[in-house]
Amino acid sequence: MKIDSSEITTLLKAQIKGYESKLETDDVGTVISVGDGIALCYGLDKAMLGELLVFPHDVYGMVMNLDNEDVGAVLLGNDREIMEGDTVKRTHRVVEVPVGDGLLGRVVNALGQPIDNPTPIVSEKTRPIERIAPGVMTRKSVDTPLETGIKAIDAMIPIGRGQRELIIGDRQTGKTAIALDTIINQKGKGVKCVYVAIGQKNSSVASLVDRLKSMGCMDYVTVVSASASESAPLQYIAPFAGMAIAEEWMEKGEDVLIVFDDLSKHAVAYRTLALLLKRAPGREAFPGDIFYLHSRLLERACRLSKDFGGGSITALPIIETQAGDISAYIPTNVISITDGQIFLVVDYFNEGQRPAIDSGFSVSRVGGAAQTKAMKSVAKSLKIELASYREMLSFSQFGSDLDPATKKILTHGGVLMETLKQKQYRPYPLWKQVFELYTVGKGYFDSLPLAEVGTSLVELDAYAESKCKKELDALQSSGVLSEDISATFDRVIGEYLSSRAK
Ligand code: ATP
Ligand code: MG
Repeated sequence: MKIDSSEITTLLKAQIKGYESKLETDDVGTVISVGDGIALCYGLDKAMLGELLVFPHDVYGMVMNLDNEDVGAVLLGNDREIMEGDTVKRTHRVVEVPVGDGLLGRVVNALGQPIDNPTPIVSEKTRPIERIAPGVMTRKSVDTPLETGIKAIDAMIPIGRGQRELIIGDRQTGKTAIALDTIINQKGKGVKCVYVAIGQKNSSVASLVDRLKSMGCMDYVTVVSASASESAPLQYIAPFAGMAIAEEWMEKGEDVLIVFDDLSKHAVAYRTLALLLKRAPGREAFPGDIFYLHSRLLERACRLSKDFGGGSITALPIIETQAGDISAYIPTNVISITDGQIFLVVDYFNEGQRPAIDSGFSVSRVGGAAQTKAMKSVAKSLKIELASYREMLSFSQFGSDLDPATKKILTHGGVLMETLKQKQYRPYPLWKQVFELYTVGKGYFDSLPLAEVGTSLVELDAYAESKCKKELDALQSSGVLSEDISATFDRVIGEYLSSRAK
């Protein structure tokens, strides 16, 4: 048989040509430039937005810009060893994180890799970090309370499972404390928690984890941390990673609480990325799509209807303000995305009124539907009473003579403010909150000196526990304050007050 060498060469050439073009245009590209955690790559014609790329030295990148000539990717690792001309490969996968119960009790980075100890995460499943939020038809309105255990919140700004409630305030006003106490209060309530730390000091995250461990709460919590020392891309994807972890549980019909501490730092990380990717800046130098970014994230928190498993994700995003300015760009954005806000003020905090919640500016737009009957009955006039107290207080500072009606409002308001003070790491069960608010609401403590209100309430709680445990248990389990129970309360409070007088 005669072999035609020219035929073979033509065939081989054709094959090599086809092979090369597939390799070059589809899967492998070249790094054109790299710096500040951003790599521009040439030749990845088919790359998808959000796709994971592999660079040399096992560094991963995520596609964020699809331009005419090149692809802009953010590096999710060290960019030092990546050079111009290096090859970069597509993975055909978007960024994913491991999900499932194996993450409980663990501290992971934004890619879901363990950072607490070297034991690998046990997980058979991964989920893409970005996902379209559940649609209207799959959702249900909020109807079950998510108890924070904080008197001021559960009474005046109630949160329901599936709600998004913003915690907003200046630095060092107790924002993290509220989120942490809420996580602690979920112990034994069947709510799994995800705490996402963005741009925080490693030491703060470590002490938070220690606190959760020492209180025996870590077994239902996952901490996702992208600390201040980590690159902007990792800080940028951390909340999405946390949300993906939470979604897995929600889809199994479970209730999840997720905290983003904080989204101001997330916005800054995104601004860094966007500017480095040469996207045009807008107001306060944030890119125009920052609103869309945060709504895309927070819309994923919801309550699913029964047909879709009935699970929920309650989100507590945190925003740090500058000098109490809630009308800045990022605060107003997140306020409009969420179902209400808890506003913390420096003045209260410094006066010792902690948690430093401003009941006037704080609101929960949907949580009322989820409040228990008992709490509703004792808390209904609280906000108004506090508002008139504050009004009178500023008035009375002029030092004029006060009429008895004003004096009464001032004394009663003072007692209410004392009642709403609460120590950190000490969440209150429903019965205790209702019992205390019932007591002060009826004015039983108005005759006490303000300095004694706090300690007397603690004494009274203990006294009531010894005298009417049955009623308190009934209140706790039914969530209803019946007439019989209130009659018993009146008797017990009367006994306590007369024993004090002796
Ligand atoms: P940052 O802006 O630094 O994140 P933050 O607003 O999250 O601060 P926290 O760290 O929660 O504030 O609280 C600031 C300090 O106030 C902490 O030392 C904390 O222990 C204390 N603190 C917070 N809440 C209370 C409280 N209810 N009672 C007493 N101390 C509190
Ligand atoms: Mg904090």
